[in-house]
Amino acid sequence: MNDSAPVDVDLALVGGGGAGSLVLAALDRHGVRGLRVAVVDPVRKHGQDRTWAFWGRPGGDLDPLLSASWDQVEVTTPARRRVLDLTPLRYAMLRSAPVYARAAEAERRLGARRIDAAVTGLDDDGAGVLVRGADGVPLVRASWVLDSRPRPPARPGRTSWLQHFRGWWVESGGPLFDPARAVLMDFRTPQPGRGVSFGYVLPVSDRYALVEYTEFSPDRLTDDGYDRALRGYLGRLGLDPAALTVREVEDGVIPMTDAPFPRRPSPRVVRLGTAGGATRPSTGFTFSAMLRQADQVARALAAGRPPVPAPAYPRRHLWMDAVALRALDTGRVGGPEFFDRLFDRNPAERVLRFLDGDTSPGEDLAVMRSSPLLAMTSAVVGDAAGRLRGRLRRPAG
Ligand SMILES: Cc1cc2nc3c(=O)[nH]c(=O)nc-3n(C[C@H](O)[C@H](O)[C@H](O)COP(=O)(O)OP(=O)(O)OC[C@H]3O[C@@H](n4cnc5c(N)ncnc54)[C@H](O)[C@@H]3O)c2cc1C
Repeated sequence: MNDSAPVDVDLALVGGGGAGSLVLAALDRHGVRGLRVAVVDPVRKHGQDRTWAFWGRPGGDLDPLLSASWDQVEVTTPARRRVLDLTPLRYAMLRSAPVYARAAEAERRLGARRIDAAVTGLDDDGAGVLVRGADGVPLVRASWVLDSRPRPPARPGRTSWLQHFRGWWVESGGPLFDPARAVLMDFRTPQPGRGVSFGYVLPVSDRYALVEYTEFSPDRLTDDGYDRALRGYLGRLGLDPAALTVREVEDGVIPMTDAPFPRRPSPRVVRLGTAGGATRPSTGFTFSAMLRQADQVARALAAGRPPVPAPAYPRRHLWMDAVALRALDTGRVGGPEFFDRLFDRNPAERVLRFLDGDTSPGEDLAVMRSSPLLAMTSAVVGDAAGRLRGRLRRPAG
C-alpha cells in the first residue's frame, strides 16, 4: 500500500456523472467560492452518452442548455389518445454534452482538483473521510463526501424490475414531426407477458426526433429485440423506417425496485444520484430529484451548513411506488390501464408533480383514489405481508 499524502479538501465528489455534474453546476450557480473541492472519477464525462427528459417549471440556469421543450404532451393507450397541457410545467430535453461542459466550466471556476482514479473505499471516522483508490492508496481526505458511484441496493427488493430502452435519433428528408408536442408515453406497443412497454417521441424539429422503445420488466431484450420493437413502433406511428436515417442510438438500463438505497451510509458520506435513491421506483425518472438535491447541497454549503439534502422522495411515495410495482408485477393491474386512469382522473400537472415526489398528502390521496383501487388494495395487503416476512427473516441487529 502506498502511503503518499492524500489531498485535503472540504468536499469530495466521488463520481462526476449526472449527479456530480449537477452539484458542480449548482455550487457555481450559488456562488460558492473558497470551498476546497475534489472530483474523483476514473472517467472525465464529456459529449453525448444520454439524453435527459424531465418536467419542471421554466426558468433556471439550465434552460439555455435545453435541446427542446414542450408545453403539450401526448399520452396514448389503445383506448384513448390524450393531449395534455402541462402549464405551468413543461417537458424538457437536455442532452448530456452541454451538462458535462457546464460542469467542467464550473469545476474550473471553483478551482476544483480533478483526480482520475476509481475509488475503492471510503473510511469515515466521523470527523472526515479518507477516500481510497486502487490497492487502498489514500487519494483524498475530505470533510464531506458526496458519493454517486453506481451500486446495487443494500438488499434485494421484492420487486426488482428494470426500465430498459433503446432510442434512435432519426432524421427524415421532409417534415414528419410536430416540434410543438412530445409523445410522453404511447402504450400501443405490443405488451410483454410480464411488464409494461411503451414508445415515445421527442421531436427537436419537424425532421429530427428521438424515438424510443421502453420496457418496465424484469429482463433486458436482445439487441435484435430492441431493433424489432423500434421498427414496429415506427410502423405504428405510420413512419417508414426505410425513409429515415438513424443518426445515433441510445441504450439504457435503470433500476425500478422497492429495494433500499441508503442515502447516508456513514456520518460524513452522502449518496446521491441513482445510488442514493434518486431514481423513482415507479417510473425510472431521476433527473428532477438529482437537480433538486444538487440545489439543496449547494444552498447548504453556501450557508455554511452540512451538504445533506432532503430524501429524494417522501416515504409515503416510496410506499405507494412499492405497491404500484407489486400490482404491476403480479398482473393485478395492467400498465396501460394504470396510466389511463391516472391521467384520466387527475390534472396532468398533478400527476407529473406526484411522479417527481412534489405533491401534498391531500393530492397523493386523490392520485391514490384514481388508481385501480381494488387491485391496489390487495397488492397493499401482499406488500405488508411481504414486508413482515422480510423483517422476520432478517437477523436482528
Ligand atoms: C441512457 C440513459 C438515459 C436516461 N434518461 C433519463 C431521463 O430521460 N430522465 C431521467 O430522469 N433519468 C434518466 N436516466 C436515469 C438517470 O438520470 C441517469 O442514469 C443519471 O446519469 C444518473 O446519474 P448518477 O450520477 O447517479 O450516475 P452516472 O451518471 O452513471 O454517474 C456515475 C459516475 O460514477 C463514476 N464512477 C463509477 N465507478 C467509480 C469509482 N469506483 N470511483 C469514482 N467514480 C466512479 C462513473 O464514471 C460516472 O461518472 C437515464 C439513464 C441512462 C443510462
